[in-house]
Amino acid sequence: MKRSWIETFSESIGLISKISDRPDWSEEFAMEGPRELYKYPEPSEWDDFMELDSQSWPEKKERHYSIVPTTCFNCESACGLLAYIDKDTNEVRKFEGNPHHPGSRGRNCAKGPATINQINDTERILYPLKRKSERGSGEWVRITWDQALDEISEKIAASLKKSKEKVVYHVGRPGHEGYAERVLKAWGVDGHNSHTNICSAGARTGYALWHKYDRPSPDHTNAEVILLASSHLETGHYFNPHAQRIMEGMMKGAKLIVIDPRLSNTASMADEWMPTYPGSESAVFMSMAKIIIDEEMYDRHYMENWVNWDEYLKNLHPNDPVEFDQFIKRLNEEWAEYTPEYAAKEAQIDAEQIVRVARIVGKAGSKLSTHVWRGASIGNLGGWQVARTLHLLNVLTGSVGTEGGTSPSEWNKFHPKFFDTPPSPDAWNELAWPKEYTLNHYEMSQILPHLIKDGRGSMDVYFTRVFNPVWTFPDGFSWIEMLSDAEKVGCHIALTPTWNETAFFADYVLPMGHASERHDLNSYETQSGVWIAFRQPVLREKARRDGKEVEFTYEVNPGEVWEEDEFWIELSWRIDKDGDLGIRKHFMSPYRKGEKINIDEYYQYIFENTNGLPETAEKEGLTPLEYMRKFGAYLVDSEVYVKNEDSISDDVMNSATVKENG
Ligand code: SF4
Repeated sequence: MKRSWIETFSESIGLISKISDRPDWSEEFAMEGPRELYKYPEPSEWDDFMELDSQSWPEKKERHYSIVPTTCFNCESACGLLAYIDKDTNEVRKFEGNPHHPGSRGRNCAKGPATINQINDTERILYPLKRKSERGSGEWVRITWDQALDEISEKIAASLKKSKEKVVYHVGRPGHEGYAERVLKAWGVDGHNSHTNICSAGARTGYALWHKYDRPSPDHTNAEVILLASSHLETGHYFNPHAQRIMEGMMKGAKLIVIDPRLSNTASMADEWMPTYPGSESAVFMSMAKIIIDEEMYDRHYMENWVNWDEYLKNLHPNDPVEFDQFIKRLNEEWAEYTPEYAAKEAQIDAEQIVRVARIVGKAGSKLSTHVWRGASIGNLGGWQVARTLHLLNVLTGSVGTEGGTSPSEWNKFHPKFFDTPPSPDAWNELAWPKEYTLNHYEMSQILPHLIKDGRGSMDVYFTRVFNPVWTFPDGFSWIEMLSDAEKVGCHIALTPTWNETAFFADYVLPMGHASERHDLNSYETQSGVWIAFRQPVLREKARRDGKEVEFTYEVNPGEVWEEDEFWIELSWRIDKDGDLGIRKHFMSPYRKGEKINIDEYYQYIFENTNGLPETAEKEGLTPLEYMRKFGAYLVDSEVYVKNEDSISDDVMNSATVKENG
């Protein structure tokens, strides 16, 4: 191993020792291609990991850590984190990546380890607060969780006795698998609202129209061509997990094409950067599609088998012969206007580049991974066509669900089995789903204040969770107007880890934990394969390792910071004091008859019913819950390809029926 002169000097006078004895990792692990992390504490050391305290140097002061896995909550990717808890002080001193997390594999972006700044934020809310005077006056009084639960549950119970549409939960960042939806169903309300319609609804619509599932799951690692639209990776959602796989693909020779007006970090690394005029992306994709058809680069076998070309001919050209070649002929006619020159004019880029890129895409065949999420698909009128036309390129090249291609999201997503599944509500909330917006994909949350102003309804109890429309929505003052009107919004409860402009207009501000202070189950389609990860309150797990009993997570978190999971159980229990609202039955322990479920049992049930997890845990001498507490994540399925070719069993076929609409 090469040493600097200062290392050589320090070694010679004994200031540092044994550099020359260190293994030469640089040769053993030359960076010639993607590889796994090789330096991190082994799980066998996680109960007591020793590290020298860097700040005490040159004194060799030992620090002993209890290392507990959890997941990051600073974007949706839910990358794995390891919390290093000082065994002397019981403080979390730092976060690093969890190598056992199948999505992030030990890596994080800068926001992951920065979780330490959030938990030590001196401005954070540490106790439940209640408004003292006028809403929005900024005067608060500290209350107990008991008081908050009692008062809020009474308001909800009163509302539920009158209506199933006046309790609303409006979420900014969910970060869990179906937890809140289950709670709302248990209450019998149509009360879910989300920010999706100013975020990903455009892209979702485009994908849903292709195959129902409304997200793409690109297999960048194995792709030969990676095509990203509006693609600083952060706008693509799975920032770090995708970034590392795009790099892997490129290290194996994949070409990167980025369509983005901005020279983003990703665009700066691309083989082809297409700085298209915003809103012109669909024209460029249609032009590429035309070139792929014209130059016969399409995957005939895939299209013949998986595209409903025969129905297209029968319905739009009933006098045509129902033959695949006739379908291609009709596509040629229909797409005649999408010449490279037309697209080049729309996009204000060179026609030659469009032709060149179309040929690269066409030659990728089944190894074309593509992705669009926000940006172009939501920032322009008709943006949903960006996702629709981008996925058309996957269909033409036969790269849907293939190794190195792009799969429907659901193939790579885990769905937990719950201990209890309440029925869907017998209600329709017009404030979320106004009937005149028949094609909306997700709730029309962006017009909520306007619907209320138009007299379309009101809310008795309104929860905002990690959601700050006063600041982030274009018309923040409309939200202030709505939230200031106690006639329209009877009670506003902000569930938030930090102060924000929307919480300022709340009646109750309830502090909820950051990544390392709460339970959640995560699973995202970051790659080919299905994984789950366990976000857990790390000081609670540390207390358990120390043999201490903890009933509620706020007992170990800073101040009285709590978590939504336990809050919803306790709130639901109190809403239905006598059990006559039919809510309590959905919160009964599956293990202790007639008693209220606790959070350990909630996750115990899910993990016991996760494919393969009980067997894997048993090999480690652990229960499924203990396994997830220890490792923080589990790979349910390592490779998921061409599920469309899975055969269907006779049992399923025999019990299937065809609906009237086919
Ligand atoms: S990419 Fe991963 S580490 Fe970065 S913010 Fe998102 S979840 Fe956290």
